[in-house]
Amino acid sequence: MYCKQCGKEINDGSSYCSYCGSGTGINWMTMFLAGTISLR
Ligand SMILES: [Zn+2]
Repeated sequence: MYCKQCGKEINDGSSYCSYCGSGTGINWMTMFLAGTISLR
């Protein structure tokens, strides 16, 4: 996926950009939708 801040391509598993250090914010939601994270 791409960083929404700097546009660099970053690892899909990264919760933050390794270039600008900005948190993606969408990684958590992605895992949640995929069922990786359970609210319980
Ligand atoms: Zn970035």
